[in-house]
Amino acid sequence: MADKRDYYEVLGVSKTASEADIKKAYRSLAKKYHPDINKEKGADVKFKEVQEAYEVLSDQQKRANYDQFGHAGMDNNGFGGFGGFQSGGFEDINDIFGSFFGGGFNQSQRRQSGPRKGEDRLMQMRVDFMDAIFGKTESISLDVEEQCSVCMGSGAHSKSDIQMCPTCNGKGSVTTQQRTPFGVFQSSSVCPECQGTGKKILNKCSKCHGRGYEKKRVTVDIKIPAGIHSGQQLRVPGKGERGAQGGPNGDLYIEIVVSKHKFFQREGNHIYISVPVSAIDATLGCKIDVPTVHGDVELTIPSGTQHGTQFRLKGKGVKDLNSTNMGDQFVEVKLQVEDKISREEKELYEKLKKIQGKDSIYDRFKKAFK
Ligand SMILES: [Zn+2]
Ligand SMILES: [Zn+2]
Repeated sequence: MADKRDYYEVLGVSKTASEADIKKAYRSLAKKYHPDINKEKGADVKFKEVQEAYEVLSDQQKRANYDQFGHAGMDNNGFGGFGGFQSGGFEDINDIFGSFFGGGFNQSQRRQSGPRKGEDRLMQMRVDFMDAIFGKTESISLDVEEQCSVCMGSGAHSKSDIQMCPTCNGKGSVTTQQRTPFGVFQSSSVCPECQGTGKKILNKCSKCHGRGYEKKRVTVDIKIPAGIHSGQQLRVPGKGERGAQGGPNGDLYIEIVVSKHKFFQREGNHIYISVPVSAIDATLGCKIDVPTVHGDVELTIPSGTQHGTQFRLKGKGVKDLNSTNMGDQFVEVKLQVEDKISREEKELYEKLKKIQGKDSIYDRFKKAFK
């Protein structure tokens, strides 16, 4: 993944910028870099960057996520797409060109009538270090807007209450002509009467009051697969924003944030741990029970082991998310010296020192130095 620029930096606003400031900065940059206007090399990349930054910073929740987790909280390197970016930014850019080109820009595409799938939603979920390794099912509660079960989304009390909109004759859009310095533009816009549905409802559905959808609190079991990594996303179909005019709901993407462990560190499917070993144990050699995510494993520390030596416990890491391959655990020896010793220990150390005489490790270093 290429290094991403800070979203605030992209828009040239401060971290405390208001929504209005962000919108203003976005509008001026989007105009500057829009590929239809700016033909310079790299303008399209800048435009996308600006759009993405705005998509996040203009959404309260996404902005809060970004403030807390940075790009890690936003990255899409997991289970497929996060559709919010494109579609979210699109309407806004049309807003800009609506005023810029007198409504000539793609207006007809802006809101077609007919069923449309809802926007995707992104949520973050914190997962315990061990649960990410071994998997777990977690239940979450969500507010979802679903099609009304009484009127099936039409919003009408009965079928005969649905009539064609007289303003647009059921098309959902009206066509207007506008004279601008660039010529005459014909543009079509959403019918103001029916808001694009092309229908007129006489008696509204009593359950949803004509909205066609109802808000529900649902519990969803999220299966966190063994071996998942921070930043990966799980897709929950149909639990995104509601669709329009009978279209299906968008999807919910759950981004996993794996908690840190006090002693283990994980990199990919490998686990790393440092263990303290005394100078005596390292000199004489010993056997230790090393904690692994699978429980204790006996490790032989050979005599003469140096500080920083790494041992590999094959297959004692994390099972790969997509295969049966196992990662390894790496154990790094950290030599640690006692800072409090008994009188008896002290006597023995002194005896040892006497035996070594002028042949201590340091003496040998000095001899080599000459
Ligand atoms: Zn209804
Ligand atoms: Zn209409």
